[in-house]
Amino acid sequence: MRQDEHANAPTLLLRNVTVIDGVTPSPAPGRDVLVEGDRIHAIVPTGTLNLPTAASPARLRILEAGGYTLLPGFFDCHVHVSTSPDAARFDTVLAPESLLTLRSVPALSATLDAGITSARDLAGADSGFREALEAGYVHGPALQIALRILSITGGHGDWRTVSGMPLDSGPGAGAVADSPDEFVRATREVVRQGADWVKVAATGGMTSPRRAPESGGLTGPELSAVVTEAARQGVVGVAAHAQGAAGIATAVRAGVRSIEHGYLVDDSTLQDMGERGTYLVPTLSALTRPVSADGPPHLVEQRRRLRETALERLSVALTSGVRVVLGTDAGIAPHGGNLRELELLVRLGLSPAAAIAAGTSVAARMCRLDDEVGSVRAGLRADLVLTDVDPLTDIAALGEPDAIRTVIQGGRVVKDLTSGIGAGRERAA
Ligand SMILES: [Zn+2]
Repeated sequence: MRQDEHANAPTLLLRNVTVIDGVTPSPAPGRDVLVEGDRIHAIVPTGTLNLPTAASPARLRILEAGGYTLLPGFFDCHVHVSTSPDAARFDTVLAPESLLTLRSVPALSATLDAGITSARDLAGADSGFREALEAGYVHGPALQIALRILSITGGHGDWRTVSGMPLDSGPGAGAVADSPDEFVRATREVVRQGADWVKVAATGGMTSPRRAPESGGLTGPELSAVVTEAARQGVVGVAAHAQGAAGIATAVRAGVRSIEHGYLVDDSTLQDMGERGTYLVPTLSALTRPVSADGPPHLVEQRRRLRETALERLSVALTSGVRVVLGTDAGIAPHGGNLRELELLVRLGLSPAAAIAAGTSVAARMCRLDDEVGSVRAGLRADLVLTDVDPLTDIAALGEPDAIRTVIQGGRVVKDLTSGIGAGRERAA
């Protein structure tokens, strides 16, 4: 269905725009960017585009984009699209599954409108989400999915009560295993269900039912078994939820592709990560969200205790040269404010350009999609955002969804607050 739309999509010319390509640290002002079908066709100095040679478009939409900045569509590499931060407790047990699924429709839409054209869901969304988004049934980012978190008995993904009743039944429920063999089977099971990533709980977490962030998760041999099997099955990689120093170190040594949270990472592990090229997804939006006074008291206290130390360790991490990727933990953090993470990354030490790269080109590389998206380059898919703020001087401004004036996904204008594109200033070529 989308293929036909692409074939008939008008050619789009963004004239005299400033380009931040997500790779080069400095912006390129005065560019004409031509989008044809679902691709970026050309990026040239303003006025030098030879339109008649540009595949003779039947229709051409032109946006006079002087004063606007064009960036790659962003990635949020740690979301839970089917989870709501405002959900009632135990709703995954008590609510019908259709309600939980449909509740994610406005969340997905808000995510795309915030400038996120690609996302990695690290538990909750199943392959139906990915396919519905691909087919265009729902307005939202393209998804890579992990389905569920693989956890040891009693670990971060084990939400059975003492009586055995599961508190996280449904598609995103944790998969519990013990021993390398059992984790191989659990890996195969999520791959069977369509996982792009295998997610594991290498430590407890801030929201664990009974484990502190510092407590252990999978052992080294269990993690190695998952990493080996995941590679054998050809998935993108293994993502390790890891908050305490020891668990982070074990996961990195086992060869996971990304460390999620990484709150208490120590210096020697940072060095390991640098050497191995392990990605860090620090989820600062979740870490810095207000500590709710009405949450369970042990969680509130745990979070207060950890937050200050975590911010110190992550500021060391972000200036250590490890590959940092933007991820918010939206679902725990609110949906639709995803790019507020950029300002937090800058506060902890990234330059604005590096924070933008963390949300675009570096994220695409982590997801093994850099031949397809993550930069503004001729030949790549036209996933683009247009803003009227200058992100290099005011990165915080980009976090306001209204600052994202236009979102283009696969060459289609899916959000437009300018008067230029949506009004369809079309003319015969
Ligand atoms: Zn998460």
